[in-house]
Amino acid sequence: MDLNPFRLCSGLKILGYLMILLVFGIIALTYDAVVVVTWGPHIFDGGANSFLSFLIVALFHVLLVMLTWSYFMVVFRDPGAVPANWKMLSDQNVEEDNSTAMPSSSEDTERRPAIGYCNRCQNGKPPRCHHCSVCKRCVLKMDHHCIWVVNCVGACNYKFFLLFVLYTFLETLMDTLVLLPSFISFFQQVKNSSSSPGKLAVIFLAFVVNLAFALSLLCFVVMHASLLLSNTTSVEVHEKRKDVRWKYDLGWKNNIEQVFGTKKMLWFFPLFSKEDLERVPALDGLDFPTRSDIEV
Ligand SMILES: [Zn+2]
Ligand SMILES: [Zn+2]
Repeated sequence: MDLNPFRLCSGLKILGYLMILLVFGIIALTYDAVVVVTWGPHIFDGGANSFLSFLIVALFHVLLVMLTWSYFMVVFRDPGAVPANWKMLSDQNVEEDNSTAMPSSSEDTERRPAIGYCNRCQNGKPPRCHHCSVCKRCVLKMDHHCIWVVNCVGACNYKFFLLFVLYTFLETLMDTLVLLPSFISFFQQVKNSSSSPGKLAVIFLAFVVNLAFALSLLCFVVMHASLLLSNTTSVEVHEKRKDVRWKYDLGWKNNIEQVFGTKKMLWFFPLFSKEDLERVPALDGLDFPTRSDIEV
């Protein structure tokens, strides 16, 4: 019997496409509950309530734009592939080991050290690179394969993933708070039949879904904030325990810049400046400064 557990992983890809539909379903439900049913109609009431309704609806749209933008950036940005010439480098190492070596190439990428070899990709592995069983390839500075975005999260899209998680957390937290008054009066309204059953169902469902997401995302935000501040990936958490001092931990400020770039103005946008892409090697996922580089 040929049982390959990695085959099951390809099912995650199909599940991922369903997750995209689920994400858009939840957004549509929440939009209906917050903008159409509860707060939108009060914008033209006049007075303080009108101003508060306007603020809530405006903030809802700003967060929605930011989370959707970040979401598409994580979905469509390649997390980081190992260049083809890493194969040449590893071949070169093997041949050198066998004392049948030939002169080394002068190209930059070929002079960088491979820390391992992936038998499945038949290519060298740069530092912090891991093979993803769902994508069936090596991913640079792989964090995890995320079924919500049908993509791996790695060196080139980790910032976008963090922003997506952050903005989704803020959006669901705000939705929970602004739907709370309607949710509290839900049972009263059901008793009095003062609102239509459709509207009540939308408010009830949206509140419960947003509360559930806000609570789960809070754990995720805290976990990834601690990973970000210590320059560790989800995969490396297990490796890190063996090390007394994590070699990639450059201090919290440098660690943030290794993921978000050096331009603070762009930290909250799913973008990188051209200079950062050229100057911060961690953003292309092949070279990572270590504590010893900084301390020297
Ligand atoms: Zn691989
Ligand atoms: Zn993957």
